[in-house]
Amino acid sequence: MTDTASTPLSTDALKAAVRAMAVAIIDHTEELSRLDQAIGDGDHGLNMKRGFEAILAKLDGSADAPPALLKSIGTTLVMTVGGASGPLYGSLALAMGKALGDQPLTLACAADLLDAGIQSVMSRGRSQAGEKTMLDTLVPVLAVVRAGGADLGDRVKAAAAAGAAATVPLRASKGRASFLGERSIGHMDPGARSSQLLIEALCDALSKDPAP
Ligand code: ADP
Ligand code: MG
Repeated sequence: MTDTASTPLSTDALKAAVRAMAVAIIDHTEELSRLDQAIGDGDHGLNMKRGFEAILAKLDGSADAPPALLKSIGTTLVMTVGGASGPLYGSLALAMGKALGDQPLTLACAADLLDAGIQSVMSRGRSQAGEKTMLDTLVPVLAVVRAGGADLGDRVKAAAAAGAAATVPLRASKGRASFLGERSIGHMDPGARSSQLLIEALCDALSKDPAP
């Protein structure tokens, strides 16, 4: 375990990372909606944009420490994103905030936090990896974060990209895309892509400011 693993992330660094995640989603609104048009109802981009704009609006004035910030982000996602993804992304952030509790936010606890978030998505969505959802990005990312090691950010981003790409040949068995049956095959899952965008933006933001 290196020093960086146990260096707490400041609230400002967390806020900067959340801002970068919001910008990534807002910049890809059309792409996400296009993916959802192919196998859903076409609203994923706008749903996520609405949620992350609401997060941005609250972020600047917020004096919340990381656990309260994660809770507020989770609540905002549940209240504003809508669709299936709002409650799922919301529960991910809420569970991460709860798992963090009073501990400092460090790389050393990142895997446990993500694990708690994923468990919450799985129980709320009654879903698991391999069903053509956001979990196909998040679960392989967790494995890489858990293993740790050198060049973690690059390997996490590669796992997220591979996870999202791996949804293309899958047949959806959860969410709206499952209504299409075989016709869901051949398209990337929009939620897997939004998870990839969020993870990439998070890694890039943390690599710019690893130990503020
Ligand atoms: P809706 O499907 O209600 O229109 P969105 O378009 O915002 O909601 O989100 C769709 C995304 O939500 C899917 O691409 C998928 O990744 C994710 N999703 C849907 N159902 C589940 C589930 N049961 N478990 C995990 N993720 C899910
Ligand atoms: Mg949709």
